[in-house]
Amino acid sequence: MASQPINNSKIPDYVTHVTKTLEKANFEAFLVGGCVRDLILEREPKDWDITTNANPEEIIALFEKTIYENKFGTVGVCMPINEENNVTHVTKYHIIEVTPYRTEAKYSDFRHPDEVLFSKNIEDDLKRRDFTINALAYNVEKGQIIDLYKGQTDIKDKVIRAVGKPDDRFQEDSLRMLRAVRFSVQLDFVVSYETMQSITDNVSFIKNVSFERIRDEFTKIVESRNSMQGIGLLQKLGLLKYIIPELEEGIGCIQGGAHKYDVFVHLLEALNHASEKDWQLEIRLAALFHDIGKPKSRRDGTKKEYTFYGHEVIGARLAKQIMERLKYPKKSTDLVVSLVRNHMFFSDTEQISLSAVRRIVQKVGKEYIWDLMNVRECDRVGMSKSEAPYRLRKYHAMIEEVLRDPISVGQLAIDGKYMMEVLHMKPGPRMGWILNALLEEVLDDPTKNTKEHLGELVSSLDILGDAELKTLGERGKETKEKLEEEEIDKLHKKHGV
Ligand code: ATP
Ligand code: MG
Repeated sequence: MASQPINNSKIPDYVTHVTKTLEKANFEAFLVGGCVRDLILEREPKDWDITTNANPEEIIALFEKTIYENKFGTVGVCMPINEENNVTHVTKYHIIEVTPYRTEAKYSDFRHPDEVLFSKNIEDDLKRRDFTINALAYNVEKGQIIDLYKGQTDIKDKVIRAVGKPDDRFQEDSLRMLRAVRFSVQLDFVVSYETMQSITDNVSFIKNVSFERIRDEFTKIVESRNSMQGIGLLQKLGLLKYIIPELEEGIGCIQGGAHKYDVFVHLLEALNHASEKDWQLEIRLAALFHDIGKPKSRRDGTKKEYTFYGHEVIGARLAKQIMERLKYPKKSTDLVVSLVRNHMFFSDTEQISLSAVRRIVQKVGKEYIWDLMNVRECDRVGMSKSEAPYRLRKYHAMIEEVLRDPISVGQLAIDGKYMMEVLHMKPGPRMGWILNALLEEVLDDPTKNTKEHLGELVSSLDILGDAELKTLGERGKETKEKLEEEEIDKLHKKHGV
């Protein structure tokens, strides 16, 4: 039982309160699993798990507020968060999961233990855990680490190693194969040779795992900084073909032309760029899938070596199929599919007009147009091509131009309907002239843009003759157009185009 000091000051009081309360009542209490690993690695633990020889009823009896609604014996202890300036007086809680020592019985379906059995020994609990680095328990009071499987050595050596016989462990719960890859990319560890070999041998058992569980681990892989290495490892171990076989079709799918990579490597490189930029999950997935339709659309070209006409349409269909298989929420699915479907837009280089940009903004949605630009960046960087800076700036300027609200009579505090219904004006050209004249006033002094002020102005303008009013209206319109031009000019200057 080697001991390595853990800095107790990194453990929040609401956590030690729980272990102390259990110990005061003469129970054992250990921090366990990921949080111990992370404390040793000096990483911020994501959550705090405690294991104890108390049973669920005994745990519940010790704390003021608990949640207990699962069949694994896990009791959520709710510790109030002391928030200053808590104006709503709604108490928020930290939830610390406290689980009795468990020993897992047989797994006859490769998926769920047939029953969950509680134990009186911490040793049983550590034995059922997936990897040595996750099988550490820590007694905070004593400053003592229980390490039955040389987890600390593996942490030091940066190795992921199954607890016990890997074949047995992967057959019990085959998700662990994916978890090995996940921890390896999240922590920058290698998977031990024996564990890796065992995954290769047992890979087909992944079929027994639900896609929801697969998705959660897959997402963590994609969201890690080493996502590219993660997908590469999934492929190498043989797991990828059970999860996203469509990606494997890109292996060896040579593209020719400006592309030095096959489709698979290009997609991985594109994903890598999204990870480097720390972009959100949907952009990462869109980068990983953007050319996934290429293998199915590749034809021999006459001038170019190959053509891939319509690959974005096929790709969007495949992306939808994958996202649905992995049970991603509809909103994420729709966004990824739309980004894949439209990723070719900005590749059309010279031809892009303002009205085309207007159409693509309409299609993709205002709030997602920059996501599309980011996917494009992944695509470019993924083929080791840098963007001609001028063109990129031009696209930015065009998008901003499309997104900005034009100067118009629509900005006025009153409109034609108000003029007719409240100010009793008749419809006709006089109304248009008046609105344009009002706009000029407001552009000059925005504080005048109130119903009261404009109402008064309307009455004084309405006594003018047609000719005079028309002149005023037209002058207003010219001012507006001049200002519009100036604003767009400013925008172009800002982007240097
Ligand atoms: P994270 O930082 O992502 O939360 P973690 O190590 O805490 O990582 P969890 O999935 O939260 O991972 O699981 C908590 C602990 O429970 C693990 O450290 C491990 O000891 C154990 N565990 C979780 N899933 C399994 C599994 N499928 N098989 C065996 N043990 C598992
Ligand atoms: Mg955890």
